[in-house]
Amino acid sequence: MPITYVIIVLAILLFLVAFILIRTVLYSRAPLSSLATGSADEDFASPEFDALEAAKHLSESVQVKTISHEDPAEDSKEYFNLLQQEFEVMYPHVHQVMQKEIVGDYSLIFTWPGSNPELEPVLFTSHQDVVPADPDTLDQWTYPPFSGEIAEGFIWGRGTLDIKSQVIALFEAAESLIISGYTPERTVILAFGHDEEVFGVGAKKIVARLQEKGMHLHALLDEGGTIYNGGLPGIAGQAALIGIGEKGYLSLRFTVEMEGGHSSTPSNETAIGILSQAITRLETHPFPPSLHTVKGMFQGLAPASPFSMQLAFANLWLFKGMVIRQLSSNVETDAAIRTTIAPTIFRSGVKDNILPAKAEAVVNFRLLPGMSIAEACNHVREVIHDERVHFEPLGGNAWEATPVSPTDSASYSELAACIIGFFPGTVTAPYITLGGTDARNYYVICDNIYRFTPLISLPEDLKRVHGVDERISIDALATMVKFFQQLMQRWSLN
Ligand SMILES: [Zn+2]
Repeated sequence: MPITYVIIVLAILLFLVAFILIRTVLYSRAPLSSLATGSADEDFASPEFDALEAAKHLSESVQVKTISHEDPAEDSKEYFNLLQQEFEVMYPHVHQVMQKEIVGDYSLIFTWPGSNPELEPVLFTSHQDVVPADPDTLDQWTYPPFSGEIAEGFIWGRGTLDIKSQVIALFEAAESLIISGYTPERTVILAFGHDEEVFGVGAKKIVARLQEKGMHLHALLDEGGTIYNGGLPGIAGQAALIGIGEKGYLSLRFTVEMEGGHSSTPSNETAIGILSQAITRLETHPFPPSLHTVKGMFQGLAPASPFSMQLAFANLWLFKGMVIRQLSSNVETDAAIRTTIAPTIFRSGVKDNILPAKAEAVVNFRLLPGMSIAEACNHVREVIHDERVHFEPLGGNAWEATPVSPTDSASYSELAACIIGFFPGTVTAPYITLGGTDARNYYVICDNIYRFTPLISLPEDLKRVHGVDERISIDALATMVKFFQQLMQRWSLN
């Protein structure tokens, strides 16, 4: 019966459309984590502090050149001592009430004993070092990079965004809370490494010291995501991204050794040719994509995303292929869904008429949480499938991707509640940070590790990080202080 047939097909189609739409509506309404409802903003002390004084403190700390250079021989470590002397003058109450320790020569730990020693401590971290200012761009700065100029409503210079601002705001928050007579219930620790920008040892030494004390942390906050206003494709309004994990890091050195010789009588396979083919095979066989690390992000962003995006993510059973194709077409979203492969060095040959006996290349990999270094090496071996190509880790820096911190923890909810309180109308979502932070070292003593800086970033601000005219507004710094005043109280209780 053709007419019955048509009706049945139409009914199935209608059912499918309804199913897809209902899933979409439920998806964008589903709270990612039940936000803390127990305590409203007004339940927390917000002690007075002088915003201009805080700005001056940041300015003074910017003027101290605690630079981490690629070549450590260029570092002038005495600046760290100088900076720490300044902290002593700026924050007398912190230095009086908190126990101060120095580890790894220049990294700082401040411990503020809580009223309930049974509870696990919470830790707030940031780093004291900054990257250099590129000498070629010095003439492009409105104010010199280490002037710490306060002008036009901003504090200018290296470290104002990355990330002496977070050091200063944490100190200001603790100092003002101490002056107001507040004592946290949980112990609160401030920890400031000194070599984050060069993947250094500071944070490792801090963790080792806390481990010696037998400590396990309830929660940790480090630098990381901010509140993006524009710049996230398709997202309207302000979106706060909270880093819940970090990609791993691995560089492999590839070598091919062949018989050298004269270029007048080449064999049909050369070291350069074989290595080139190996690298090409790697590039044309990317790691498989995985949506598991971005699902939570898109769900959190759903209220601010276009309907088509909500529809697609709510119905991955149907649109997975399309979503992956879409995310793969942009380098940043592609890096969020797979382990990336980046050939960064290629070397061979010394003279135009000599066949080199050796060709060498370095490829940098950033591993998605869930993929181990060993698994990545297996993929590489299988794809290259040529025993003449040898590879080994390039000495020094390599680390596994971190575990992914939970988004249903009390500390995540309190952080999100704090964000929504201070930045009304902002959507919050978890994400995996693409760059490295000191936080990755802390997983041995903490499960609830979050990376967030309470600051609104316009697309143009992101270019200032490690770039020209790095600056933060006096108002934004003041908001950071108030934010940390409250988050310290929220985390100390929950
Ligand atoms: Zn940083």
